[in-house]
Amino acid sequence: MAEILKCAPVVNALSEKTKADIKYLESKGISPTLAIVRVGEKPDDISYERNATKRCESVGVGVKSVILPVDASQDELIRSINNLNIDTSVHGVLLFRPLPKHLDERVVCEALCPSKDIDSITMHSLANVFTGSDDGLKPCTAGAVLEILDFYNIDCTGKNIVVVGRSLVVGKPVAIMLLSRNATVTVCHTRTVDLSSITKAAEIIIVATGQPEGLTREYFSPGQVVIDVGINWNDAKGKLCGDVMFDEAEPVVSAITPVPGGVGTVTTSVLVSNVVKAAKMQLDQQLV
Ligand code: NDP
Repeated sequence: MAEILKCAPVVNALSEKTKADIKYLESKGISPTLAIVRVGEKPDDISYERNATKRCESVGVGVKSVILPVDASQDELIRSINNLNIDTSVHGVLLFRPLPKHLDERVVCEALCPSKDIDSITMHSLANVFTGSDDGLKPCTAGAVLEILDFYNIDCTGKNIVVVGRSLVVGKPVAIMLLSRNATVTVCHTRTVDLSSITKAAEIIIVATGQPEGLTREYFSPGQVVIDVGINWNDAKGKLCGDVMFDEAEPVVSAITPVPGGVGTVTTSVLVSNVVKAAKMQLDQQLV
């Protein structure tokens, strides 16, 4: 039986730190505020918006939603982002992606001021991640993976870590951040040959494939730590599931994150904590 790396205690620890930072900011007359920019009415975005709003409210971070119609033009969207860039009452901006196909995502992301980029969507923020710089804010999901490892005292130094997935949102940043922690990192993807022999040899596996319950028993071996980043809706079971077949991996490995109640919940907390960090950085640079 594996240890279940429950994420509620990780969230609580992060919230305590965030609340203390908010107190400090309030003593300086600043109420940290997140702006959420949503184009269209995608159920996934609306659900994430609801969760992020709840989490913000629970610690005292303000939320402002900017909602544009699904056929909003690129100019319209960039104008909204520019307005948030110069709005000193807003400290962090979350833009839901992917954007509708008629919008150029890279151009839109670059419109955001890096000091308000709480999910590392600008090239400036990504450069900080990929150069291992301590400046700026780290991407929320990759940051959540590291928070979980830290909370459970899982040291990455010298460990053989396999990341399954190479997206710019999860796989690549998490791999680079683990490399900065002195892990020996292997990144796998759809063209990887004999994936199971690579994952089986790992000490820690980070799974972010977007394939519901795709990693089954034969991908795991005893003693491993498994962090399942996946969040998928399983229609047949009527519940959320990860990218790992939990019921098959759990009897084999030594520790595993659950879904739900895993990486996703910590991601929202990292998002809120990034808004507060952004407000502190803006205060230090006297931008607010
Ligand atoms: P993407 O679809 O952008 O990327 C998936 C990656 O996994 C690709 O690099 C792909 O390889 C690789 N991949 C897919 N299938 C396989 C396979 N069978 N074997 C090996 N590699 C494979 O997904 P995201 O990175 O955006 O998301 C990944 C998961 O994380 C999803 O379940 C998503 O819901 C979840 N997620 C969770 C968040 C959280 O807060 N917990 C936040 C964001 C995402 P290739 O490059 O070759 O196509």
